[in-house]
Amino acid sequence: MKRGNRQSPTLSVFARKNIEMKVKEIFNTMAYGPAPESAAQANEFLDAHNRTFELFINGEWKKAEKHFETINPSNMEVLANIAEASERDVNEAVTAANKALKDWVNLGGRARARYLYAIARQIQKHSRLFAVLEALDNGKPIRETRDIDIPLVARHFYHHAGWAQLMDTELKDYKEIGVIGQIIPWNFPLLMLSWKIAPALAMGNTVVLKPAEFTSLTALLFAEICQNVGLPKGVVNIITGPGSTGAALVNHKDVHKIAFTGSTEVGKIIRKAIAGSGKKVSLELGGKSPFIVFEDADLDSVVEGIVDAIWFNQGQVCCAGSRLLVQESIQDKLYDKIKARMEKLRVGDAMDKCIDIGAIVAPVQLKTIDELVQKGIAEGNQMWQPSWECPKDGCFYPPTLFTHVSPSSTIAQEEIFGPVLVAMSFRSHQEAIKLANNTRYGLACSIWTENINLALDIAPKVKAGTVWINSTNVFDAGSGFGGYRESGFGREGGKEGLFEYMKPRIEEQFSDKPINPAVQKSKITITDSINRTAKMYIGGKQARPDGGYSITIKNPQGEIVGEAPEGSRKDIRNAVEAAHANGKWAEMTGHARAQVLYYIAENLSARKSEFSNRLVQMCCYGKTDADAEVEKSIDRIYTYAAHADKYDGQAHQTIQRNVTLAMPEPVGVMGIVCPDEAPLLAFISTVIPAIALGNSVIVIPSESAPFSATDFYQILDTSDVPGGTINIITGPKDSLAKELAKHYDVDGLWYFGNKESSKDIESLSAENMKRTWVNYGKYRNWMNNEQSEGMEFLRHASEIKNIWIPYGA
Ligand code: NDP
Repeated sequence: MKRGNRQSPTLSVFARKNIEMKVKEIFNTMAYGPAPESAAQANEFLDAHNRTFELFINGEWKKAEKHFETINPSNMEVLANIAEASERDVNEAVTAANKALKDWVNLGGRARARYLYAIARQIQKHSRLFAVLEALDNGKPIRETRDIDIPLVARHFYHHAGWAQLMDTELKDYKEIGVIGQIIPWNFPLLMLSWKIAPALAMGNTVVLKPAEFTSLTALLFAEICQNVGLPKGVVNIITGPGSTGAALVNHKDVHKIAFTGSTEVGKIIRKAIAGSGKKVSLELGGKSPFIVFEDADLDSVVEGIVDAIWFNQGQVCCAGSRLLVQESIQDKLYDKIKARMEKLRVGDAMDKCIDIGAIVAPVQLKTIDELVQKGIAEGNQMWQPSWECPKDGCFYPPTLFTHVSPSSTIAQEEIFGPVLVAMSFRSHQEAIKLANNTRYGLACSIWTENINLALDIAPKVKAGTVWINSTNVFDAGSGFGGYRESGFGREGGKEGLFEYMKPRIEEQFSDKPINPAVQKSKITITDSINRTAKMYIGGKQARPDGGYSITIKNPQGEIVGEAPEGSRKDIRNAVEAAHANGKWAEMTGHARAQVLYYIAENLSARKSEFSNRLVQMCCYGKTDADAEVEKSIDRIYTYAAHADKYDGQAHQTIQRNVTLAMPEPVGVMGIVCPDEAPLLAFISTVIPAIALGNSVIVIPSESAPFSATDFYQILDTSDVPGGTINIITGPKDSLAKELAKHYDVDGLWYFGNKESSKDIESLSAENMKRTWVNYGKYRNWMNNEQSEGMEFLRHASEIKNIWIPYGA
């Protein structure tokens, strides 16, 4: 407005009256008007590319043959055309990443850190452009992209620049994995990109990333940032396209690891597709996370927590608190408060700063949400929506509340991935835990109570990778994030997340053939062979095989050493049940478990010569080698007894006024399939670290030499090990291993054997997404401590749970 250009004093009486009326009306209703953010700069960016984007390969833009449209779900207008990468393009990108790898690694962590800092600064400098572009492309409110997504993206690059700087000193036993294929979803497009790219580059890997079809724009702007900071060509490649582009990336032979975030369904497809290939994988999948409210909680805070839990990002959040579990005594009061708050929520254009809920990403997602809501109604659950209507010109869905929901109904079990809250009640704390765990997922959990003792009692009992106490949906680069069960495995963020992007240097020393001591030529005398009947060991008791068969075991000289039970599927089933029934071991303190392990070591020590003779008879080892294996076994038990109360977590430095406890937890019930070689030592080296951290195990010992393991249960019987902690099933190793892989109640599975069965184990385990650790037919020297003892074993035997505890008076 020019100076002196004031409102005309001759304004008509009518006009003045009209303004007064409007002001009066506004004061009466207190309604907000729209406060739109400008899209001008974002439009300039799109126009500068003629609204057509190509593929970012080897630091340059490569023209694609086909393109598809990306829309703004707030108004259904086409924003731009995006390139569809073909299999050839994928190959070109992977080749570029491979070519860039060596130089990127050789730069060293300190030089890589400079690039990551530069990227972080560029993101901050262009933060508003990123925020607007994300809001336009995804439909999420500009307030969220501006205040949450983009600041977290910058933080992620800063944090991992620091890890790059420290890698050479703090993580020197590890090295890069190689070329990482990364596939991300549409719900947090740039944030997921940063979660994937920042740690990968920091640890010396190069990447090929495929954004989701609905939301590629910010990844393409990020590609420009990579050019601007002079990132070496080929270190980051962005290839856009549909699911088939992702599949081509997954299946490319020169990709060394896949990092995926998305649906459980596609996660399973990927797990199966790369089974046995030796490619590493981390999967961050769906969830149906509980939001537990106890009767002493501050209900007004709870209501705001619920808004953040299920209406943040339109509920399209993998860790959304979509299952409200409320203590029965306060349920009606809480439901009334939630409804009053829902009545005031505003749904609308993502670019309006006055809205709470933006647009659903695409019509297909809107349809999925509505179908599940209709199913919820058809199944007899009570549905409530606010009285106002959503705008009609975009992909909008109203906040929705289901109350008095039956825990078995579809909407209580299936991930809806929309603004739909499903509520049910509980009476006791025990019931709250049972309901919380009544899901095939295990991503996150919110606990609301003013009693910190209660919150910290519940937190470890809920199977979830992240637990927020009196808070929800809080994230930070300094904390790990990831799930259990069908929510996938692996962690992103925090020190724990780095291990997804490195491998132990020692792996390079593994052999292609089993490593065994020399077999004696002189005749071995078998003392008590066939007369002593070995049994299996289930639930702390000796057990005969369900099938009633035994296998004759001969040594390398062809002499019969004895008979071992032939275990079958039913024995595996009984052993898994026994392992689950044993809650006692996991609840013991690390100190108490250590005492039991010391006791085991002492008892084995007392029977050294007996175990050594057994090795001589079964394997025809020389006496010196047999003695050495027993000695090493005893020593290894002492090592893990020492670790039992020392393998602890961290208090991560995350956001202000918050403690984030990163606590290692046992994986749960684990299957362990031992190698054939080193029948005593490999049994000890795998079983003992697993139980040291509180797991219960089902072990398949060496198939050719099982008696070291069956002798061992006499030691367990005399060492105060609770029944069900270690269960031993002898028999055909590979078919028993498959039974373990198929079993739904086995949480983790280690397999040491051949390449083919490694593949079967990974593939069959996809069904319940159990964590696997297999050797792909590579063999370690069990006598070598560097190869066969320590942190790697403990890490695979545990998972990190992050518990967020806000504080402040
Ligand atoms: P998807 O799992 O299909 O998509 C995730 C990513 O994987 C996208 O980049 C997608 O490409 C790609 N993709 C799809 N198929 C394959 C394949 N066979 N091989 C490799 N990559 C593939 O999720 P949707 O987008 O279809 O969403 C469906 C449901 O998934 C949602 O309703 C929600 O329940 C869940 N979901 C969970 C997320 C989470 O954060 N855990 C995130 C997103 C969705 P493209 O986009 O081109 O199809």
